[in-house]
Amino acid sequence: MVAQKLLKRLAQEHGTPLFVVDHAELRRNYRLFKRHLPRVQAYYAVKANADPAIIRTIYQEGGSFDVASIPEFMLVHENIKDLPAKARQDFIWDKIIYANPIKTPTALEQLNPYKPLVTYDNLEEIHKIKRHAPQAGLVLRVQVPNTGSVVELSSKFGAPAGEAVDLIAAAYEADLTVEGLSFHVGSQCTNFTNYIQALQLMANIFREAWDRGYHETKILDIGGGFPVAYDRHVKPFSRLAKMLNAEFNRLFPADMEILAEPGRFLVATAATAVSEIVGKSVRDGKLCYYINDGVYHTFSGVIFDHIQYHLKAFRSGPTQICSVFGPTCDALDTVSLAEELPEDLELGELLYSENIGAYSHASSTHFNGFPPAKVVHINQE
Ligand SMILES: *Cc1c(COP(=O)(O)O)cnc(C)c1O
Repeated sequence: MVAQKLLKRLAQEHGTPLFVVDHAELRRNYRLFKRHLPRVQAYYAVKANADPAIIRTIYQEGGSFDVASIPEFMLVHENIKDLPAKARQDFIWDKIIYANPIKTPTALEQLNPYKPLVTYDNLEEIHKIKRHAPQAGLVLRVQVPNTGSVVELSSKFGAPAGEAVDLIAAAYEADLTVEGLSFHVGSQCTNFTNYIQALQLMANIFREAWDRGYHETKILDIGGGFPVAYDRHVKPFSRLAKMLNAEFNRLFPADMEILAEPGRFLVATAATAVSEIVGKSVRDGKLCYYINDGVYHTFSGVIFDHIQYHLKAFRSGPTQICSVFGPTCDALDTVSLAEELPEDLELGELLYSENIGAYSHASSTHFNGFPPAKVVHINQE
């Protein structure tokens, strides 16, 4: 948690809206992930927050990357290519997985020289890869239960488990190599059973694939979804990790290469948004604050990520349940209809919101002429 005093000072220095990225917290999250899951290499899902400084810090800690577009791939490639990593862990492929099961022919052609690791989940994609990126290694994305995850993904991606081995066979028939299997339990997955069921499914598919002679298929990619403690109801990560480690040992050989694609888990707690009150009114008896950041900007997660961020004031006072609105002229630009805030805040006073590092600034727009929040980095090494 960044100290209030520092947030205030940064806001004075840089103005608002401000997005403060704490690299000490980023490193803590990465190390926590590695400490609890020592067998797993973390491929940071860049879409959660594609800031180059974040990419560099994670790389320096020893992390790898999950990208889903050519601009993301190039961003990672350019930022890590000359960078020494403190804890370089030599692992699988080129430190990057292109984990979008659907790729354009142009993207594949651009990726091909890098001999990329790419995911797929259908027959058409095999033909496309064969034609446009024959040097790629493949990872089959399998559909798994997403029950209870905040962001559901299983309706869009993943081959049905029953078709998995045939899709592996089809890729080998096209002279491609299937390096492994992947899944995604859905983002902010607080139902740990999803992971357990997914691992059992993967173990069955691996066994059948190996029985049919596909011994090169040996990477297990457990995807993202690792939940952040936005509220008290989220069970601790250590408990999930303990379950996962037990299942890895029970279901898979010791030399299995296991990777994960954590996005939210690494960045969510590493950023704080600071905004300024620019308007105040009472509407139908309810106190309304208007701030200079909103759902078209840093609070985009309210819409796209289904996360309710809490706003805090820098001082106390008698409180009321208030509405908080963003700066644009769209009524959708509603940050919250129920925030408990001091009722005597004045125009020009600041509010802040913690744990807003993931899927926030990443989907900020310039809608209505309001630019995204300025980003400042603290505790960079
Ligand atoms: C978005 C995404 C992730 C990251 O998910 P989190 O829930 O943020 O950890 C990982 N892998 C894939 C394929 C994704 O699409």
